[in-house]
Amino acid sequence: MSPQINNNRMISLQGKGISRGLAKGNAFVYLDILHRDSELYVIDSAHIDEEKSRIDRAIRDVQQGLIIDAKHIEKKLNKNAAAIFLAQESILSDSTILSELKRILEEDLINAEQVVRTVFRLYARKFREMDNPLFQDKGDDIDDLSRRLLLSLSGIHAHSLENLPPQTILVARRLLPSDTVFLSRDSTVGVLAEFAGMAAHAALLARELGIPCVGGISDLFESVNTGDIVIVDGTTGNVVINPDISAVKKYDSSRIIALKIQAKALKISRAEKATTLNGVNISVMANARSKEDVKLAIEGGADGIGLFRTEPFFLSSKHFPTDIEFADFLRYSLKPAQGKYINVRLLDIGADKNPIYLHLPPEPDPFLGRRGIRILRAYPELLEAQLRAILEVSKEFTLGILIPLVVTEEDISIVVKMIRELAEELCISDLPRIGAMIETPAAALSVSLLKQHVDFFSIGSNDLTQYTMVAGRENPLVSEYFIDDHPSILRLIRLIIDEAGSIPVSICGEVAGRNEILAKILNTGIRSISVSASLVPDIKSTVLKTMIYEPDYRKN
Ligand code: PEP
Ligand code: MG
Repeated sequence: MSPQINNNRMISLQGKGISRGLAKGNAFVYLDILHRDSELYVIDSAHIDEEKSRIDRAIRDVQQGLIIDAKHIEKKLNKNAAAIFLAQESILSDSTILSELKRILEEDLINAEQVVRTVFRLYARKFREMDNPLFQDKGDDIDDLSRRLLLSLSGIHAHSLENLPPQTILVARRLLPSDTVFLSRDSTVGVLAEFAGMAAHAALLARELGIPCVGGISDLFESVNTGDIVIVDGTTGNVVINPDISAVKKYDSSRIIALKIQAKALKISRAEKATTLNGVNISVMANARSKEDVKLAIEGGADGIGLFRTEPFFLSSKHFPTDIEFADFLRYSLKPAQGKYINVRLLDIGADKNPIYLHLPPEPDPFLGRRGIRILRAYPELLEAQLRAILEVSKEFTLGILIPLVVTEEDISIVVKMIRELAEELCISDLPRIGAMIETPAAALSVSLLKQHVDFFSIGSNDLTQYTMVAGRENPLVSEYFIDDHPSILRLIRLIIDEAGSIPVSICGEVAGRNEILAKILNTGIRSISVSASLVPDIKSTVLKTMIYEPDYRKN
């Protein structure tokens, strides 16, 4: 195969390796168009028809994109999720909008982009001012449509991130959870982002999907354009834009070696239990958020699913999902792990994750506000729908229930009470195990109280680090403070294990998936970890080569 090169100048950039692995592909620079200024220009009457046909073309393009997205989402999630896109498509088919766009264009003699902005802003406002919440929701659909039309007018094909062409290297300033819902390993082979945080949500997603990712690259947007060939080394943080022949050859040979190492790890992982050199068994489970991840985890030799994140399901829905819809989603997604143990985490939203149908009010300090269990306590119907679904599904799967962002005893006891009541109503006597996520210093320091209410603990080291080190996980400006193996974090982990006594403790934060510090983590006394699905083989191989000691304080 002849190496792919182009004639543009080769540029090497250094960032921080966020998700391991090597990739080569074509850059797609992702900017959220709603937040970009598009040029306003005045047209003369001779150009009216030209601008009108640009609008016609953009509408056709967006309609086609919506139909493709609907089919895709129906296959991946369900019919209800797909209906959103079909409803949006029908808004564009309404001739009133088109006539309004053309009328403004003729009257104001401004370019198509400005016409779209003006008309859609007006429509969105009108919907939002209506009394009926169902109509208010339409405001978001109108914004979405405006975004798609502007992308199409600017020549960027109006697709969601999932419909990117194969072999894409996605280049973004920052990816929001709602963007990443649609990221797929079928198309995206690498991610470059200006964020540097190891625990930023997009970083987690890249690792879960096994997509190499480099973050914290200054001058990224000045150096790369859509279509550039890019090599990403997620292990070293090295990025080469428009590589010359020798850089491409070096990449090809490194990739062959990497693939061989990967294949060896996979073989070991499937066949062997993760036992350290001195004979200590470690349970290696996986973090997952979709059927794709669950399958990858089980094929990779995971002992179970230590953390099944449910946010993508709730974020991709435009209405409050029913318990039946959620149960269907769980059955479908967890199928590859049937027979193994699975922890389903209750919806962990708030802060930067905000489903549009909840209309959560803006908060001054979102990460210190209503997140995780606090939102579920404020919306008990949302909690109840999830618990009903999980209890129903627990008849066919071995499930645990994880409560996110626990701080007080009530955060757990309210959930436990509702589980008991629902179980009685549903005639379920064999209850799922109930676990609390330990993600805040307050929870870590009150394990001796919390343990009276739960069957197990799972340490969420991403949030525990954010709140202990006072360094936002999504904030690149303080990434040097986001040290998830800092002595204070290791001390908290030891304290949690110690105070938990006979209650099992595992870790499902990103700290457990880093080969280079695995021994340090296991030496705190942790014997159960849950890591990104794609990392299971690698981490199991590392456990096999690791020697750990029984901590002194546990021997006594
Ligand atoms: C964590 O905080 O470590 C965790 C596992 O939860 P999430 O990353 O989803 O916030
Ligand atoms: Mg967390």
